[in-house]
Amino acid sequence: MPYHRLRHWLAVPILLAVVLASMFSQAADIDHQRALAAEQEPQNWLLHGRTYAEQRHSPLRQINDGNAEQLGLDWFFDTNTNRGLEATPIVVDGVMYLTGTWSVVYALDARSGELLWEYDPQVPREMARKVCCDVVNRGVAVWQGKVYVGTLDGRLVAIDAATGETVWQVVTVDQSLPYTITGAPRVVKDKIIIGNGGAEYGVRGHVSAYDAASGERIWRFYTVPGNPDEGFENEAMAKAAETWTGEWWKLGGGGTVWDSMAYDPELDLFYLGVGNGSPWSRHLRSPQGGDNLYLSSIVAIRPDTGEYVWHYQVVPAESWDYTATQHMILADIDWQGETRKVLMQAPKSGFFMIIDRETGEFLSAEPYVEVNWATHYDPETGRPVEVEGMDYEHGSKSVKPSGGGGHNWQPMAYNPDTGLVYIPAMESMMVYEQAEKMQYEPGLRHLGIKRGEGPPGNELFLNILIDKVSSGHLLAWDPVQQKEAWRVPLRHSWNGGVLSTAGNLVLQGTADRRMVAYRADTGKQLWDMDVQTGIMAPPITYSVDGEQYVTVLAGWGGGFGLMTGVKQPPGAKRSRVLTFKLGGAMQLPPTIEAGPIPEPPALTDASDEVIARGSTLYGSYCSFCHGVAGISGGTLPDLRRLPEHTHMSFELIVHKGAFKSLGMPGFGDVLSKQDVAAIQSYLIVEAHKDKVLRETPPWLLKIKTFFYHLVTSLIVLFVDTGTATG
Ligand code: CA
Repeated sequence: MPYHRLRHWLAVPILLAVVLASMFSQAADIDHQRALAAEQEPQNWLLHGRTYAEQRHSPLRQINDGNAEQLGLDWFFDTNTNRGLEATPIVVDGVMYLTGTWSVVYALDARSGELLWEYDPQVPREMARKVCCDVVNRGVAVWQGKVYVGTLDGRLVAIDAATGETVWQVVTVDQSLPYTITGAPRVVKDKIIIGNGGAEYGVRGHVSAYDAASGERIWRFYTVPGNPDEGFENEAMAKAAETWTGEWWKLGGGGTVWDSMAYDPELDLFYLGVGNGSPWSRHLRSPQGGDNLYLSSIVAIRPDTGEYVWHYQVVPAESWDYTATQHMILADIDWQGETRKVLMQAPKSGFFMIIDRETGEFLSAEPYVEVNWATHYDPETGRPVEVEGMDYEHGSKSVKPSGGGGHNWQPMAYNPDTGLVYIPAMESMMVYEQAEKMQYEPGLRHLGIKRGEGPPGNELFLNILIDKVSSGHLLAWDPVQQKEAWRVPLRHSWNGGVLSTAGNLVLQGTADRRMVAYRADTGKQLWDMDVQTGIMAPPITYSVDGEQYVTVLAGWGGGFGLMTGVKQPPGAKRSRVLTFKLGGAMQLPPTIEAGPIPEPPALTDASDEVIARGSTLYGSYCSFCHGVAGISGGTLPDLRRLPEHTHMSFELIVHKGAFKSLGMPGFGDVLSKQDVAAIQSYLIVEAHKDKVLRETPPWLLKIKTFFYHLVTSLIVLFVDTGTATG
């Protein structure tokens, strides 16, 4: 038989075999054995932190310190929004699964970025009012042919990985309360485990496990005790209740597990990173004192039953929004002459924590950023030694770090070869002052601290001040020595999560719109690229057909990004999935310049009192999304620059919710028409200030900038040295 005929005949059975194989092999076929051995699949990124150890270190080394300068964009996928992206993509056998804004799920061809399917859970846009920190989502879990997402409105949805169709969905929270989900579910032994958020709004945190196949709830673990009169769910809650006083359950308690969880298969322990108290002020939350377990704690439970095993409280009687929800890394390190199984965390409180993950024993805590609320941790008790008065019960205090933390949700990475943990670290400060009493007001955050009188309306001044009190750097931390190895100062705080690779690389996106590669051992920058929008999400790496790729989601926002963040330039409004490879030659489309800034409307005849009230209302209801003093992060409309027709519909939009479907809910239930008019009058005044600033001649701007630098330096010095504190 001629060769070409033979080839023809052979093609039939080969084709048949391929068809049969594809019929019987499921898409996204991850099971327990495969998840345990995720380390053996460097081409994939199977679990949230790549493996259960959550080290975010890849053995891939095709891209390395010798060639990283040849990195270039290979493909991008436009998520058709300009809002925040925070997800870690999951990659299974050439398919990438990720989430975008409003909990939308995408499946992409990991080689080309081609959209395979899109799943929109149709989150009601009114949810925007219930979220502390943007309508973001940090990713999916993938298990035996299904993709799992926790939606902003508290559902857990199982999606067919091949088709994008819903398989099942369950509601995991009391939807009448301000619960939200932004964190990625974790999967352990056929159970999908999901937490929630909402501690700024008075909820009681819990974590639940659902059967991966059916969606049936298997267990629920509450993180703070409820009303004792109703009985405690378990012994752990009864024990916890001994550390609370007053009627905390009426205030919610808080303790939400809104991001970090980790699993140790060998010890069969599942670790929860528990959040801050609700309200923040411990004196209002638990008036006769107490540690308030399990706030700001790492709690180890059994993944099969949700049964409590041990806890370590990072910040007893937490009072500053110091969550212990930050990324937990599991590693075996050389600790004082012996190998210890440790759990490492850089929580908001500013101390790098090392605890024994078998027992919860405290091993060490050293400050990785500037800290002034505690001097150190007592090695005997494992408790922080607080600086007196920093609990702000008797007057305002400027505290470092701020509630944003020395490190927030942006994941770290640990390279076992260099022995370093790479932290997206932040220096920050915040003034706290206890409110006279705790009172609920619908639609507002319940922090138990005094709200400001309304933000100062001077953009130039404010930006200089923000730069003075917050800064960011990529910090390489040696956990064995408990000290810094190197740092790279960054232009702003609130930078992206981190990826480490065996190619001696650390990769990170930045607030100033760059994707960057550094040497892992020294921090020397090897490559960077302008990506048109700020990055918060952590990069991942994977390979298909022998080619290594690096992917990151670029899209600015999040808590800091919306409220006070770095303004993204007009036109830079595409939140995208970006994938890089060596020799990648794809160009991003040119940014579209924003249109001319509209002329401010004529000033209203509103009195100074009304404008001041408008300013306060703006600070309470608008600023968390639209930014302080009208300075938004550039992703949501700058309300000082509204066109005339929007001003004409202002009441319809703000009071009645005319733009509800766009994510701008109405506030008619909490704001009167007079309130809305006061906010509008304030914004018009701000619009005129904005025009004056924009039209300031450069020479005068220079003088003003110099002057504000001087004034803000004095303010910071004054506040910092404690002379302004009561
Ligand atoms: Ca919080």
